[in-house]
Amino acid sequence: MPVAVLGATGTVGQRFIQLLEDHPWFYVAEVMASDQSAGKRYLEALNGRWKLTTRVPDAVAKLRVKAPGERLKSPVLFSSLDASVAGELEERHARAGHLVFSNSRNHRMDPLVPLVIPEVNRDHIDLLGRQKFGGGGILTNPNCSTIVLVLALAPIHREFGVESLIVTTFQATSGAGYPGVPSLDILGNVIPYISGEEPKMEAETNKILGRLGAKGIESAGISVSPSCHRVPVLDGHLMAVSLKLKTRVTEKRLLAALREFRPLQRLILPSAPKDPIQIREENDRPQPRLDVDRASGMGVTVGRLRACPVLDWKFDALGHNTIRGAAGASILNAELLAHAGRI
Ligand code: NAP
Repeated sequence: MPVAVLGATGTVGQRFIQLLEDHPWFYVAEVMASDQSAGKRYLEALNGRWKLTTRVPDAVAKLRVKAPGERLKSPVLFSSLDASVAGELEERHARAGHLVFSNSRNHRMDPLVPLVIPEVNRDHIDLLGRQKFGGGGILTNPNCSTIVLVLALAPIHREFGVESLIVTTFQATSGAGYPGVPSLDILGNVIPYISGEEPKMEAETNKILGRLGAKGIESAGISVSPSCHRVPVLDGHLMAVSLKLKTRVTEKRLLAALREFRPLQRLILPSAPKDPIQIREENDRPQPRLDVDRASGMGVTVGRLRACPVLDWKFDALGHNTIRGAAGASILNAELLAHAGRI
């Protein structure tokens, strides 16, 4: 199936191009970016900005970059547009009959837009049927830190109920796009603020873990207290989580819930990791450099599970921000819809 990548020249756009090379179901037929890139061949538009260790696929290097207002032919659009333009452009393309899989924040909290992690809330895709875009639609994946947190929380919440949590993040610089944070600000430093990130973690967590009912999604009602930090790490968002549960539970049962979490086992989706949660038992893991690529970047690594003297339990979680936290998440959502016969 032909697909288009919107914002194809950016940090997440490049990941889409990389992950879609040799994808068994989708191939990149169209790329789109800003007016500054439009009209050029993809390789030329990149102008040296390709930051991945694999080569730009030949078939994509030659594609002419389309302008933001141009008509697209592919039924599926993967969007990694800058948030300043994503809202309007994604709607316009949905109204033109495309199914838009968005990474941007603009529509995530719209009541009729599903915010989906296939392992956690795939029933929320039913919201697409309530959208008013004609044949098209918009489906989003969460912010790159929220998806790591929620994947680790989901099995715990389902079995034992999470009441409240405190999460402190250590987020990679690639999460800020390119050129992102100036090197003189981030090298040898930690910045204890990421604009808009903390409210996103609070709201998105409750939407994803919420229940879909006749009136829309009912919030999960979890009190979430995030503190987000930018750190000089290339890829991988690490976070320290402390949580209060609704029921008493042993460490053994918590570990079993995390280890046995394989909700997509029966669906054959090419990007779905066999084990979405990878457990490390060493005292000093997970670490971004050593664990970020687990399960081809689609796994979330959990370690240091232990009792919390203030709340109930605490642990560390790590995930790849541009794969599990962005492009890989969108592709998995598209696979889910294709599998469900909705594309
Ligand atoms: P980025 O590196 O700055 O890339 C932005 C992309 O948007 C580029 O392709 C750029 O094209 C395009 N663009 C900018 N202005 C445009 C316009 N007026 N019309 C059409 N296209 C335009 O950003 P990024 O990190 O890839 O992030 C993209 C989106 O994904 C953002 O909404 C971000 O919040 C979200 N996201 C990022 C991450 C991450 O880890 N980086 C994770 C999850 C979600 P040109 O090259 O032509 O300027």
